[in-house]
Amino acid sequence: MTGRRRPAEGRLPEPEGSRSEPAGDLTRLDRPVQFLKGVGPRRADAFRKLALGTARDLLYHLPRRYDDASTLTPIDRLEVGDDATFVGRVRTRGVIPTRSGLRIFQAVLQDDSGMITCAWPGQPWLERKIREGDELLVSGPVKFFHGRQMHPREFVITARAGKGSALDDPGAQGAGGRLGEGPGEGRSGTIFTSYPASDEIPQWVLRRVYEENLDTLLAESDAEEYLEPGVLRTLGLPGLPEAFRRLHRPDALTDAESGRRRLAFDEFFFLQLVQALARLHEGAVEPGIAFHRSNTLIRPLHEALPFRLTGAQARVLREIYADMTAPRRMNRFLQGDVGAGKTLVALFAMLLAVESGWQAALMAPTELLAEQHALKLRELVAELGLGVGILTGSLGAKARRETLEGLREGRIPLVVGTHALIQEAVEFQRLGLVVVDEQHRFGVRQRMALLERPGELAPDVLVMSATPIPRSLALTLYGDLELSVLDELPPGRTPITTLLRRPGQRAEVYEGVARELDAGHQGYVVYPLVEASEKVDLRAATDEHLRLSTEVFPDRRVGLLHGQLSADEKDAVMRAFRDRELDLLVATTVIEVGIDVPNATVMVIENAERFGLSQLHQLRGRVGRGGAASWCVLVGEGGDGAMERLKVFASTTDGFQIARADLQIRGQGDLFGAQQSGRDPLLRFADLLKDEDLLLEARALARGIVERDPELAAPEHARIRTTLQLRHAERLRMWKVG
Ligand code: ADP
Ligand code: MG
Repeated sequence: MTGRRRPAEGRLPEPEGSRSEPAGDLTRLDRPVQFLKGVGPRRADAFRKLALGTARDLLYHLPRRYDDASTLTPIDRLEVGDDATFVGRVRTRGVIPTRSGLRIFQAVLQDDSGMITCAWPGQPWLERKIREGDELLVSGPVKFFHGRQMHPREFVITARAGKGSALDDPGAQGAGGRLGEGPGEGRSGTIFTSYPASDEIPQWVLRRVYEENLDTLLAESDAEEYLEPGVLRTLGLPGLPEAFRRLHRPDALTDAESGRRRLAFDEFFFLQLVQALARLHEGAVEPGIAFHRSNTLIRPLHEALPFRLTGAQARVLREIYADMTAPRRMNRFLQGDVGAGKTLVALFAMLLAVESGWQAALMAPTELLAEQHALKLRELVAELGLGVGILTGSLGAKARRETLEGLREGRIPLVVGTHALIQEAVEFQRLGLVVVDEQHRFGVRQRMALLERPGELAPDVLVMSATPIPRSLALTLYGDLELSVLDELPPGRTPITTLLRRPGQRAEVYEGVARELDAGHQGYVVYPLVEASEKVDLRAATDEHLRLSTEVFPDRRVGLLHGQLSADEKDAVMRAFRDRELDLLVATTVIEVGIDVPNATVMVIENAERFGLSQLHQLRGRVGRGGAASWCVLVGEGGDGAMERLKVFASTTDGFQIARADLQIRGQGDLFGAQQSGRDPLLRFADLLKDEDLLLEARALARGIVERDPELAAPEHARIRTTLQLRHAERLRMWKVG
């Protein structure tokens, strides 16, 4: 690929200063924040600490919260037991000592309707912050304590004493909204905006700065607009100045949301644009093999199958065939839950390659998985008179030589192996398709470069993953690949029952395991392994293995599998389990990757609260692979939050639903994890769960533009190109477009 890629300068010429729109326009917002009204050099440092270094940063400062004044409660209406939000002026304040030594800061707040005491136990230092005459927005529970008393959970100083009160001055244009007719009824349509602030730059200072500068910044932001009015109309999104206005000075909460969505669209758009450019450079529009479907192998396989394809399999195969028969290189990502039937889909794709006179290779992440794949494929193609070669590290020298020869001479049409298949100097006579069973490892595309031989058409690529990541996330991570989703399990699967038990109930859990073993089935007991405490955890698994094999299941054959074993030792243990030489396997999470023993019907997961939901899902997928009913027992403890998570998991076996829950619980930052570690805060405004529709629209638009105008040379794309270069240079580099 490297040779084929052209440097960005070739594609995206530097913007010329003399274009119809002066470059100055697009950089005006880059001026340092100290030149803004109300900031100055003295405060500039503190602003920078809030990541507010430039005027633009201020526009893109995402509000932390909005308070709708129409939902504020007049003080005289507050009732004990309410959880309420209101605004009032500080009439008196002070610190009250108590007999217990606790010092309580109290302030009496007043609005037009009445007064109430607010109390902050243990926060005497607030005396230095909150002054008489300040206007506060507070929210929290109203309690009974010598009368009604508010215990604020949160508060914001909305105005300083004597400084342009939003409340008292109906005309005041606070960045935080205009409180039209003052307190009481009729405040509808007025919103308070709160920002992430700091001790040095408190809320009221920020608001003042917005108040004094927002109009100017909005006017300047027009220069940043890169979408034509018509496009905006079609998308139903506001233009940039209007979006920023809505974000910072909304008339209603729905306003604020539509402002956020416009900025979320921008984030998706530029992300997808970079990926579309990357695709152009290295992917889908590369010339590739046009396979010819003769049906000489595909039809016989259809006829030999004892079952019908699921609707999802048929659909995905149509997508794959369309790619493969076109004269461009396929770069497709196939996602499907454990057991959705990806292997079969892969086999049909491989047969299309073979019946067109090409070879096909399937790569697995481990030797054991490669062997399993080979066995399965051999079974499936037995009646077609096709052989399946295998190439792994543990192959004997002679077998290896024969396989290599067969591949080179084209006698072996189908081969299964580990990733070593493409790393070593394996020669194919005519390699047409590579299927990568990626499990949950990312980044295989880089390695694909090794498959490219000068003067030949690069083979098509199909990457399969069982990691059930939400579609939106897949599009974000793999935006340069085509995406196919197997979202339907074959019928007649035996359901897995998931139970949640406390450590105190272990005896009962072991009885359940014993029942399964008595019935001739096998089982797993899994322990977590966290790198930081690997030794401790390893001891846990080793000790437990001893305890289980001598005390709990003395009559059973209990094996032990953990990450400290060599690859050979691991393989030996897994083989023994597969061949039923072991009844019970005590294991750390190493079994997560693809062990396939249909006779295993029970899995006990210890310290389940320490696993991520998606990881639990992978683990659970190791049972329920045969015809018998299966069990997954989570032994967990911990607070409500931890148990709640496990309950969500126990309530569904839908991997996508679990992935969404996981995403919700852990936050999307975590999922990007090591890959894009915080360096590039990819999505600040966008929410992968809420904004999937925007992502799809942004993707379509970005791809359309790149297809029509790959150099972004058209005048109507000038701002897009400039924005890309000015603000997304880092990302262009990351995706190797620049
Ligand atoms: P995955 O690789 O997606 O985890 P597999 O391809 O291993 O799933 O399929 C799991 C099992 O389901 C295999 O035994 C396979 O033969 C079977 N299978 C695949 N497709 C179907 C189908 N349409 N109907 C019934 N069984 C199927
Ligand atoms: Mg599989």
